[in-house]
Amino acid sequence: MATHRVIIIGAGIGGLSAAALLAQAGYIVTVLEAQTYPGGCAGTFTHQGYRFEAGATVAGGFQPGGPHALLAEQLDLHWPVRAHDPAWVVHLPDRSIALTRDNRDVIKQFPNSEHFWEHQSHIADLGWSLSAAGLPWPATSLSEILELARVGLAHFPEDLLLLPLAFRTAYQWLAQHGMALDFAFTRFIDAQLLISAQTTSQHANAIYSATALDLARQGVYHVAGGIGGLAETLVSKLEALGGEIRYRQRVTRIAIESGRTTGVYVKHGRRAKDEVFIPADFVIANLTPWSLDSLLGDSSPARLQREVAARSAGWGAFALHLGVRADALPADLPDHHQIVSSYDGPMGEGHTAFVSLSPEWDTTRAPEGRRAVTVTTHTRVQPWWDALAVSQEHYMERKQQYVEMMLSAIERAIPGFRAAVELCLPGSPVTYQFYTDRHLGMVGGFPQRSLFTARGPRTGIPNLRLVGDSIFPGQSTAGVTLGAMRVVRDVRRSLPLPSTHRRVFSPSIGD
Ligand SMILES: Cc1cc2nc3c(=O)[nH]c(=O)nc-3n(C[C@H](O)[C@H](O)[C@H](O)COP(=O)(O)OP(=O)(O)OC[C@H]3O[C@@H](n4cnc5c(N)ncnc54)[C@H](O)[C@@H]3O)c2cc1C
Repeated sequence: MATHRVIIIGAGIGGLSAAALLAQAGYIVTVLEAQTYPGGCAGTFTHQGYRFEAGATVAGGFQPGGPHALLAEQLDLHWPVRAHDPAWVVHLPDRSIALTRDNRDVIKQFPNSEHFWEHQSHIADLGWSLSAAGLPWPATSLSEILELARVGLAHFPEDLLLLPLAFRTAYQWLAQHGMALDFAFTRFIDAQLLISAQTTSQHANAIYSATALDLARQGVYHVAGGIGGLAETLVSKLEALGGEIRYRQRVTRIAIESGRTTGVYVKHGRRAKDEVFIPADFVIANLTPWSLDSLLGDSSPARLQREVAARSAGWGAFALHLGVRADALPADLPDHHQIVSSYDGPMGEGHTAFVSLSPEWDTTRAPEGRRAVTVTTHTRVQPWWDALAVSQEHYMERKQQYVEMMLSAIERAIPGFRAAVELCLPGSPVTYQFYTDRHLGMVGGFPQRSLFTARGPRTGIPNLRLVGDSIFPGQSTAGVTLGAMRVVRDVRRSLPLPSTHRRVFSPSIGD
């Protein structure tokens, strides 16, 4: 009897993690990727001798029991990563705080926060062990509800301690620890939550925030050659397991017959006219719900149509990819910086910026004597499209304003930086849309406001699932890896392989 064929649309970290796990289990897996390289928002592209990180720059989740460590164990792969400490330095208007594994600088600068951090690490530890146990959140089928109960009982009664925080915001949790009125501290927390929970303490769920604030304690890593090395490692593993990836294959339609998907239509390259049909027993879409809805066209289930009509737009990113002279930078400059320009006003839109330099030891990332730098800020997507609709010139002016704002912000935190810049490639949500096919260039998934409205992988079509940062637990290479593991369990339950095709699967997760 033939085995089952799974098509995965998109070679982001979520799509590739699911692909490799399914290939290992014995499915025939094909990944279709529109670009010429893998990784999507966590990809690395080359330009004039530089290897720039397209979006993601900080890799976490490699600690024992962390998502990337679990995946490596399960797939028997080795990540090309190297730890660094401090994780990054947060520059507030009046002070700079190094985020280290032992949190010493944070405690030194905010001595009253000690109890808050004790509580945070306790909740985060519990969160990590629940996720390592394969918590299917939100549960979307009877088997997942049973699984949820099993994992919940295994962690009982400790997990009950989380219950009150499930209904609180991070701000209410800070207030519980007497920290909400410390303006510098809340700004410090907000800056971190914006990048890890896509919203600030007033709105972010407290439990989610505890894990989102845990990155430095768990350790962060550079990927040799750039963050795209994670995706490249997954591609090698996928191919070694008999799966395949096809580049320059943009899926243009998902075929639906009698309420089920039968496969996808693809075009080879941007200019291709003809569509080719590729049949599949199951399709996993490494996409946003908007893109999924558009690929389904008239066959999009009513619920998905309502979802995309009702959802407010998520964040986009404005990025600078800079080639910088290494000798003009301050000595011993840490590799990552988060700059918060003021204590007032909104975050993002150039008022906050995340700056990542390629590590000095990684000479593959830049020409001799240079460093490759990625700088990003959160930005609303629609104004960029509005500017473009007015005129190309208007759009370019807006881009230039952001470039100026961000370079000035960096110069305040790292004097001398601006003069070291030799190459500057700015990118807006329009650019992200072009390179990742994400609707309007929205990135980073949804703001994690409530655990009870978290999006799961179901689509309304029984043999079609979403994977990636639109599903819980959302953004980050580690987050989408957890999401992929959960989707793979779901696929294996929904479309079991005949016993003759099943391969031995590590019992640590997933089974
Ligand atoms: C500016 C920025 C900074 C970030 N910083 C960090 C960070 O420091 N650390 C961190 O862990 N995370 C970070 N993130 C988040 C992280 O990069 C993402 O959450 C994660 O990489 C998303 O993975 P994904 O699986 O959702 O796939 P995506 O990255 O969205 O990739 C989807 C892939 O699908 C392809 N595709 C789309 N449509 C089609 C189609 N129709 N046919 C074929 N292929 C298609 C795309 O080309 C793309 O390769 C950042 C993101 C951004 C944008």
